[in-house]
Amino acid sequence: MDCAATVQRQRAFFQSGATRSLDFRRARLETFSAALARNESALLAALKADLGKSPFQGYSSELGFVQAEIRHALRNLRKWAVPSGRRIPWFVAPARGWVQPEPFGVALILGPWNYPVQLLLTPLVSAIVAGNCVVLKPSELAPRTAEAITALVRENFAAEYISVANGGAEVAEALLRERFDKIFFTGSTRVGRAVMAAAARHLTPVTLELGGKCPAIVCADASVEQAARRIAWGKFMNAGQTCVAPDFVLVQRGVRATFVTALKKTIWEFYGEHPGQCEEYGRIVNARHFERLVRYLGDGKVVHGGAHDAKDLFIAPTILADVSSDALVMQEEIFGPILPVLEFDKLGDALAMLRDRPTPLALYVFTRDRTTEARVLAETRSGGACVNDVVSHIIGTGLPFGGLGESGMGVYHGRAGFETFSHQRAVLRRATWLDLPFRYPPPKLSVAGLKRAMRFLLSG
Ligand code: NAD
Repeated sequence: MDCAATVQRQRAFFQSGATRSLDFRRARLETFSAALARNESALLAALKADLGKSPFQGYSSELGFVQAEIRHALRNLRKWAVPSGRRIPWFVAPARGWVQPEPFGVALILGPWNYPVQLLLTPLVSAIVAGNCVVLKPSELAPRTAEAITALVRENFAAEYISVANGGAEVAEALLRERFDKIFFTGSTRVGRAVMAAAARHLTPVTLELGGKCPAIVCADASVEQAARRIAWGKFMNAGQTCVAPDFVLVQRGVRATFVTALKKTIWEFYGEHPGQCEEYGRIVNARHFERLVRYLGDGKVVHGGAHDAKDLFIAPTILADVSSDALVMQEEIFGPILPVLEFDKLGDALAMLRDRPTPLALYVFTRDRTTEARVLAETRSGGACVNDVVSHIIGTGLPFGGLGESGMGVYHGRAGFETFSHQRAVLRRATWLDLPFRYPPPKLSVAGLKRAMRFLLSG
């Protein structure tokens, strides 16, 4: 792709004003939804080929997600896009003020490989709803999915409106040399930094959806078996390659044994005795990640799982105990089906350990005590959080999803996505029938008089 020419063509199309009408946006969302439905089997097959995702997993965590986002956007587009009135100080009256959401222009969306449909196309829904043109850059590590998405986009959208650039880091870097009006990146913290540095050259606003190590705290008063079931669900889906999967568990000493036993039982119930033969259990994306993960197995005592097969890129759901907090597995984002389980005595010890770490994308606490819940939420930081669950806060369109600090900046999903791809333009229209002379030079008041007047006229 000629990046400069693509951006130029898209900017010309944007400047024609075509994407501004709500009817245009609505029609494109409907086209998008129908195209997703028509291409469903191709996309599901691609997800199976790239990541071993079953059709159930592929639909529930990828295609169904995007369809829900489109439906929600179609229902709410008018409400979100309507200008909202604001109070104007007396000093400038008579006047009206309002905030008018406007599309940024040409947006670049860079996606990762782990949920290669959801994480590229959900931001695309938000960009369309907000009235932008878009260049998509799928991950090269899910090549079949990238191919299927490229075909879908080419068949249903004009390139001057939405286009796809395929390739690896070099293509992403070439795109980032161009001037976009908005950049939305999902991926690692390391690459997120490079994206932000490139965006700084053009002062392009960025949203960064990054990674991190999401902790799960299991307190002694929690429903321990239920906690084990919910943690296992969030950890082992997509073979642990989920940005909001619990990365490690901190479990209170008295319930550790019960928790580990429940976790083992759950893994068995979910994936059977041979997870490698279970259709619902995924594979590691490539040999490099497989080898990285296998090295972590030596960072503690494998108390469950540990089996792996390089030819099949399979690693069994694994529980790791006796892990020291300075082991590599506790320093790097795991992003695979290996779950270190660490112990703590007092809640304060667990919170102190988390305070010293980079801000995670999500934090999970299992407790039935509202005071403990409040304390954990008050004394930790994270992009999002769940109490007595994992991952579920990102499902649906109601809650904004995003990171903080090293796990990113900015949010999307539902209305938050629309706002992320919109500029909030403040507009003031002043009446022409009155033009009081106070503000014009020379000053008509002493500074003391000005202070009194401003307190009165700019209050409220
Ligand atoms: P990655 O950062 O390696 O790649 C993401 C995208 O950036 C890809 O499209 C890739 O081609 C592109 N890229 C690679 N090098 C680049 C460069 N130098 N300049 C610009 N772009 C470049 O991430 P990944 O391995 O695909 O995904 C895994 C990471 O993403 C994990 O850290 C995970 O936690 C994170 N993640 C975050 C979220 C979230 O919503 N916050 C979701 C999924 C994954």
